[in-house]
Amino acid sequence: MPSSRSLPAETDKAILSTYLSLPQGDKVTACYIWIDGTHENLRCKSRTLDSEPKSPEDLPIWNYDGSSTYQAEGSNSDVYLHPVALYPDPFTGGKNKLVLCETYKYNKKPTESNKRRACAEVMTQAKDFEPWFGIEQEYSLLDVDGRPFGWPKNGFPGPQGPYYCAVGTDKVYGRDIMEAHYRACLYAGIKIAGTNAEVMPAQWEFQIGPCEGISAGDELWMSRYILHRVAEDFGVVVSFDPKPVPGDWNGAGAHTNFSTKAMRTPGKGLQAIEDAIEKMGKVHANHIRNYDPKGGQDNQRRLTGRHETSSIHDFSAGVANRGCSIRIPRQVAEDGHGYLEDRRPASNCDPYSVTEIIVRTTCLDQTVE
Ligand code: ADP
Ligand code: MN
Ligand code: MN
Ligand code: MN
Repeated sequence: MPSSRSLPAETDKAILSTYLSLPQGDKVTACYIWIDGTHENLRCKSRTLDSEPKSPEDLPIWNYDGSSTYQAEGSNSDVYLHPVALYPDPFTGGKNKLVLCETYKYNKKPTESNKRRACAEVMTQAKDFEPWFGIEQEYSLLDVDGRPFGWPKNGFPGPQGPYYCAVGTDKVYGRDIMEAHYRACLYAGIKIAGTNAEVMPAQWEFQIGPCEGISAGDELWMSRYILHRVAEDFGVVVSFDPKPVPGDWNGAGAHTNFSTKAMRTPGKGLQAIEDAIEKMGKVHANHIRNYDPKGGQDNQRRLTGRHETSSIHDFSAGVANRGCSIRIPRQVAEDGHGYLEDRRPASNCDPYSVTEIIVRTTCLDQTVE
């Protein structure tokens, strides 16, 4: 069917299935995935293996040219890829794998964009607290011209109101992308908790979790990779910009739901939640610096005190209040135990930085800049 949309390098995606259905012999492919020097974008490259890896240790350390990913260090441009998590590959199927990697410099030190290394150490220190995270990833679909997908080319859709959790052709844009991503994540074994259409048309959300410790960041990054790949097949762009359209349109966040064993314990959970909130209130600015890749600059456009956000300058907490920095869900207050929701992280945050500072502040009583 001819498309009315003209993409720069558009191909008929259905043809690929002919080739992907060919047998691949006894070989297995591994697609190594890493975070580049923007601290936001993902890169990948694939290699052939002789047998199916069962754990990250079965995979070789690999390398790439860091001077092409904003990660160069002088003349030492080789960056090492250390496999840390494995997922079944929903794009090529069979025994093929997606491989999440940490990046290391020539001197074996983590790169600047490798926030996982420090996060993993903190999660090990705090493991007796059994920290769980559920991250709500909001994102916007854009057309190749940068306009939100499905929006009129000269003008705007009607004001916000009918779009959140909506059904109907005039209210939701790109549901097929959301559904494809949902299924691809389930195939990959990602702990995806759910999904919904958001307040701004062409904006969506999915949730990861609850995941313990370092796995929250791993699963979120891999689910972002899968989303970008799915959207490629549909010729649509995914944006994690926290405020893709200025004005009276909701921004995009990564609400981070957090609990410890104590918070989940009936009878004393609510007290543990309140204690954590008190600690977080004392270092609000430090958290804000860690909640987007630009030290708070990106989130500044989003955390205005409007559109279900709190002001970036103030710390606040409340039961069922979506205009606060931290929300205690109504059900949690009623049950007397459960979790808190930190509403401040931006949609383009690094979840390793976010989960690390939350645990250091609330469990380990450490101050992070
Ligand atoms: P909201 O009402 O803010 O839209 P969602 O339903 O989108 O909330 O997301 C809630 C998130 O909280 C999910 O990712 C879920 O996995 C997570 N979650 C549920 N219970 C816990 C818990 N005890 N600790 C941490 N996260 C939790
Ligand atoms: Mn949600
Ligand atoms: Mn939401
Ligand atoms: Mn939320």
